[in-house]
Amino acid sequence: MFRKILIANRGEIACRVIRSAQSLGVACVAVHSDADADALHVTLADEAMPIGGARPADSYLKGDAIIAAALATGAEAIHPGYGFLSENPDFVEAVTAAGLVFIGPPADAIRAMGLKDAAKDLMARAGVPVVPGYQGAEQSPERLVQEAETIGYPVLIKAVAGGGGKGMRRVDRAGDFAAALASAKGEAATAFGNDRVLIEKYVEKPRHIEVQVFGDGTNAVHLFERDCSLQRRHQKVIEEAPAPGMTPEMRAAMGGAAVRAAEAIGYSGAGTVEFIVDASDGLRVDRFWFMEMNTRLQVEHPVTEAITGIDLVEWQLRVAAGEPLPLRQQDLAIQGHAFEARLYAEDVPAGFLPATGRLAHLAFPAGVRADSGVRAGDTISPWYDPMIAKIITHGATRAVALRQLERGLAGTEVAGTVTNLAFLHALSRHEGFASGDVDTGLIARDLDALTATPPRDHLTCAAEVTALLAAAALPGDALAGFTIWQPMGWIVSLAGPEGEVSGRITLAAPNRAQVELGGQLFLAERAGLVTYPASGWSVEGRAPMKVVTDGARLHVLLPEGRPVLVLDRIDPLDRQTQAGVGGDVTLSPMPGLVKSVLVAAGDVVAAGDRLAVLEAMKMEHTLTAARDGVVAEVLVAVGAQVEAGAALIRLEALSGDGEG
Ligand code: ADP
Repeated sequence: MFRKILIANRGEIACRVIRSAQSLGVACVAVHSDADADALHVTLADEAMPIGGARPADSYLKGDAIIAAALATGAEAIHPGYGFLSENPDFVEAVTAAGLVFIGPPADAIRAMGLKDAAKDLMARAGVPVVPGYQGAEQSPERLVQEAETIGYPVLIKAVAGGGGKGMRRVDRAGDFAAALASAKGEAATAFGNDRVLIEKYVEKPRHIEVQVFGDGTNAVHLFERDCSLQRRHQKVIEEAPAPGMTPEMRAAMGGAAVRAAEAIGYSGAGTVEFIVDASDGLRVDRFWFMEMNTRLQVEHPVTEAITGIDLVEWQLRVAAGEPLPLRQQDLAIQGHAFEARLYAEDVPAGFLPATGRLAHLAFPAGVRADSGVRAGDTISPWYDPMIAKIITHGATRAVALRQLERGLAGTEVAGTVTNLAFLHALSRHEGFASGDVDTGLIARDLDALTATPPRDHLTCAAEVTALLAAAALPGDALAGFTIWQPMGWIVSLAGPEGEVSGRITLAAPNRAQVELGGQLFLAERAGLVTYPASGWSVEGRAPMKVVTDGARLHVLLPEGRPVLVLDRIDPLDRQTQAGVGGDVTLSPMPGLVKSVLVAAGDVVAAGDRLAVLEAMKMEHTLTAARDGVVAEVLVAVGAQVEAGAALIRLEALSGDGEG
């Protein structure tokens, strides 16, 4: 086994690899961009090396800088994670040339699978079923349209260099072919610098079922299948293993084909063979076809780990270090069922737009596996993939694992950025999904229902605002220092996207506040063992809500992952200054003791001059003049105890400064 490896990646996959490597006693070197200097993967690693600027092209894609870092730190091998350089055969060759081990397949195996047309030809020769179609060199529009006729509509045009669903067009009739071809070629040329396409039969009611394989360079085994049919615009959203409705015959046929695919290219390490399955009539052995092979660890590998009990990163390290495959095919078995949901910082109502933001809070419930590369306080930056975490559950049956997923998503707390949490939660409760009737069109068909925000009644909204007001008024855990011989009352104001709300807070007991909101009284009680900066509040006996305080910003976490309600506390002293622009009376922003009065009637003051000092909540607050003027009247004396809103000092305009 290696003594030290370098992880040429960031985020959750870097953290995931580090954890397994360290548990094997292997030291880890992290590399990071300037934007990631304090990232979680850097903290977890034994050593870290900066490799350049925030843009991937300036850091995580700089193969030479990464190899130099490995040599400088004495790492013996490089784990590429997924994305970035993981499927770049030139990088693999450079790593090997530098005398290091690449933890992954040989460069030739990556090249063989790099282009979809060559891969399809190779697979067909190895006896792996491929989607019927045309993947020839002749690319004239006349030839392509003629091939489409032969295949029969609907067809799919695919860029041979494609990835991530780019350069792909479905065509339903001959009349649309020319336009679709032109746009697919244009997109492919821009995205991949290669405008060659292939044409294949469009599979109706398609399911995406992929097989995890593992090779030692000669032989391969498969670790069963994953179903990734829950997709949005060809992007996976929730994955599971095994595939619903899978039969032993179908599994043997698909597993066998995947092993043949891996062995045909002398594969070593972890890989995935992706198949498209026509599920219009159940799963049938003559209705699955090779789509492509991903020559790396996949994002969704944890569901396979959950059902096999195998640590795939451990296998990767052992095989790369020269050990044989740890288990034979007959030693591998499936236990139970697993799901993975991908939690993203994205704005679902805005069309799933990637989002950014600083995470004020991030917590996962016990009993789920959460693979994440960020913690509370970290920023989801615009530079990298906005995935926050993968939530993985495992149960004895599919129904149990799905209930666990629903529970896991309901218990996941994230504040500071918009997320797809509510969407994932709605999916976990989708009836068709629950019955196992999945295909790649499910999300698109039910998108409206899956993204609808359930209407909330007036009382629920008021309760949420009350929880925020109570948390803003009583932020700490204990109320030590407060004298509660008599109820204290003060006004708290919060600003949100829909304007401002103010509530009058009266302390009824150390952990209980009465909040007057819009003329109605609500009782808010501190609930649960929640520690600052979070606090739990039960309003009028309802289920407790958690409020997270992040400076002046307060987030209330709503049930079922519904979008977090965020309001900003308005500093009463700022307000005083603003309010003073129109009014001439300085009001006490909170209940307190007048410590000193710094002006007398007749004094001329300029905006910003100190007028009085108030002691409240164990702190001194200086009240300043909101505008230039003359002190007309001092309405309080030093030592006076004043209520929130009490008039303290009245200013008058300087003569000649009037409206006239
Ligand atoms: P990419 O490399 O761009 O991700 P893939 O070939 O992996 O493209 O296909 C992505 C997705 O497109 C699949 O998961 C499936 O949902 C859909 N798809 C691909 N080929 C077909 C086909 N022949 N018929 C129907 N859908 C397909």
